Amino acid sequence: MTRAILEEIDANAEELVEFAADLIRIPTVNPPGTDYERCAKVIGDRMSALGYEVEYVEALDRPEHTDEHPRVNVVGTLRSDDTGPCVHLNGHFDVVPAGDDWTVDPFGGLIRDGRLYGRGSADMKAGLAAAIYAATAVRRVGISAGTLETSATVDEESGGFAGVAYLAEMGRIHRNRTDYVIIPEPFGIDGISLGHRGVYWFKITARGRMGHGSMPFLGRNAIQDLNVILQKVNEELQPSLATRTTSMPVVPKQARSGSINVNSIRGGQADAGGDEISPAQTPCVPDSAEAVFDRRFILEEQFETVRAEVESLLEDATRENQEREYELTDILIVHPTFTSADSPLVGALERAIRQVVDQPARLVASPGTYDQKHIARIAGVQHCVAYGPGTLEQAHQPDESCSVRDIVTSAKVMAVAAANLLVPS
Ligand SMILES: [Zn+2]
Repeated sequence: MTRAILEEIDANAEELVEFAADLIRIPTVNPPGTDYERCAKVIGDRMSALGYEVEYVEALDRPEHTDEHPRVNVVGTLRSDDTGPCVHLNGHFDVVPAGDDWTVDPFGGLIRDGRLYGRGSADMKAGLAAAIYAATAVRRVGISAGTLETSATVDEESGGFAGVAYLAEMGRIHRNRTDYVIIPEPFGIDGISLGHRGVYWFKITARGRMGHGSMPFLGRNAIQDLNVILQKVNEELQPSLATRTTSMPVVPKQARSGSINVNSIRGGQADAGGDEISPAQTPCVPDSAEAVFDRRFILEEQFETVRAEVESLLEDATRENQEREYELTDILIVHPTFTSADSPLVGALERAIRQVVDQPARLVASPGTYDQKHIARIAGVQHCVAYGPGTLEQAHQPDESCSVRDIVTSAKVMAVAAANLLVPS
């Protein structure tokens, strides 16, 4: 059976890679979410041609869904009569903006020297194309058990709320109907990502009191108060985070502890006007200053504790000087998620990697997040991992590319794994 699957994918390898290139040629850039509808249609049409039943799911009630930039997802199903498990493959088709420093057309879909170039080649249109052909191959070799689904979704790069989260909220991906989910994010042809760290984005605003810049003692300088917090973050929080490590196999290894990054700072009359060369001068003591932080936390940390730790830094600062005033605002909270290495899904992929790639699988976890959070938290599906062609190092880079051979290999691995799950030997 495995041999038949491998032959089936080899027979369609060229078509698969050309389809991945076609997807790259549609600039589904997010933000703002351009060309989603066109891309969804191209994917849906190809799925229909390959024998899938196709549904389009528009995230009509999401605020980011607009007439100009509709949020359109596609779900393809390869049904059967029996009640076997449902294996769902999910990939996002939005890409981050191209940015500068490209030496090839980021939306040209160029294939050169065995690599497919373009924005989204690694992250993750090649993986999505591979998934679509992988599920097809399983049916074409005559495995009629269970249900195979492939979904192509939007907005992963901006949180996935109109994409995977939406499908999960409406019950289209749900533990009652979905047993296993594979997300072909670029962890390499021998890598299985079991999960990812958590994210806490927050803003700290220091409130001061305006005063004349010539008599600063009559005001309260919010920038200086914010600086107290920045110092505490650097000198107290950061070193403490570095000592807590996770048992999750996060790659790179330096990301196996919690971390905090100051993402932006604003303060005083920075917006008073003028330009960079001659900004408007306002002889004032700044009455407000804010900093946005990006805190990544590990599975072993609880979000409540993560947040309380920030609150206690603010409390310390106000205890030292009671005139200081701070406000903490949550911006984004993503909980860490992790599928056990004992999951049958992991086992099936490990076996498939051994058979197809002839190497032991590398079990890893991601330093950043991807749509697995929604599959775990909203859909409640226990068995979800990421496995797909390309490397994380290529994602979001200029001249992003993916090995053509790896695209085909990953399709084989996904197909063999899916077959293993549908028909356990
Ligand atoms: Zn991605």
